[in-house]
Amino acid sequence: MILIDGKKISEEIRNELKLKIDRLKKESRKLPGLVTILVGDNPASEVYVNMKIKACAQIGMSSKLEKKDAAFSENELLELVESYNNNSDYHGILVQLPLPRHINEDKIIEAVSPSKDVDGFHPVNVGNLVIGKETFFPCTPFGVVELLRRYNIETKGRHVVVVGRSNIVGKPLANLLLQKKEGANAVVTVCHSAARDLRKYTLQADIIIAAMGSPLFIKEDMIKEGAVVIDVGTNRIEDESTPKGYRLCGDVDFENVSKKASYISPSPGGVGPMTIAMLLSNTYLAYTKIENF
Ligand code: NAP
Repeated sequence: MILIDGKKISEEIRNELKLKIDRLKKESRKLPGLVTILVGDNPASEVYVNMKIKACAQIGMSSKLEKKDAAFSENELLELVESYNNNSDYHGILVQLPLPRHINEDKIIEAVSPSKDVDGFHPVNVGNLVIGKETFFPCTPFGVVELLRRYNIETKGRHVVVVGRSNIVGKPLANLLLQKKEGANAVVTVCHSAARDLRKYTLQADIIIAAMGSPLFIKEDMIKEGAVVIDVGTNRIEDESTPKGYRLCGDVDFENVSKKASYISPSPGGVGPMTIAMLLSNTYLAYTKIENF
């Protein structure tokens, strides 16, 4: 069994980006910039946003945090987004989700210029992904595909079973792997909570990708011998033996499934670290497009 080390690969990607940014600095060029907009005081969102800002700083990318209190209105947010659509110092705009209830998320996602939509959530970019045009891929699915690519795991003609059909993970991931392109070209099955006998599908998978949000759900009797297993799930489960009273785990019962898998990504330490690396990568891509670089 080979452990897919998302932390290591994410560091590789960050180092590659850092080298590119160092070169821009040497040539005294404008730098890529990411603005992150955070509305409200969701503690998990604050943690994610801080991680993103730190990651930008580590590779020398310029970044800015726009932190607004929970009373910030939808109109004010639309105006703020529009101001960054027109701000040439920022090539990527990230509005941290979830937003407070009085703000319509779809409206905000659609307000971000598709050329700065480094989360890949704008309907124009979603459509481009589906029809196979160059676009910004949502960061977590992009991270999964990049992990498979960097571990030289063949996807062409192989049966990938994605468990989960959310708009941010399952659906874009299935569409990415379906494309008639290098690093994709798979036969894809998408499962969801209405699947009768999920095991019937997962047992057929050469590559199984769990994105369900159900702790330790995928067991060893649900995968075939030698399957590749990618765990996107990030869940908290109670654990009195830890100082916080909980620990993080994935959707896959790693301890037992790893005995049967050929490759397996753990959670934490697999897909998670890739998400921010791909956000940086998308911001660099936005920069190259906007600056004609
Ligand atoms: P989500 O929106 O809750 O979607 C979960 C999907 O799993 C749904 O499509 C649901 O089916 C399906 N599902 C749930 N239980 C199932 C079951 N027993 N059998 C078959 N399908 C089942 O979650 P998400 O946002 O996609 O996130 C999924 C997991 O990935 C979560 O643990 C999340 O924390 C993690 N995640 C990690 C990262 C990262 O590492 N950076 C990023 C995003 C998400 P229905 O559609 O029928 O409800």
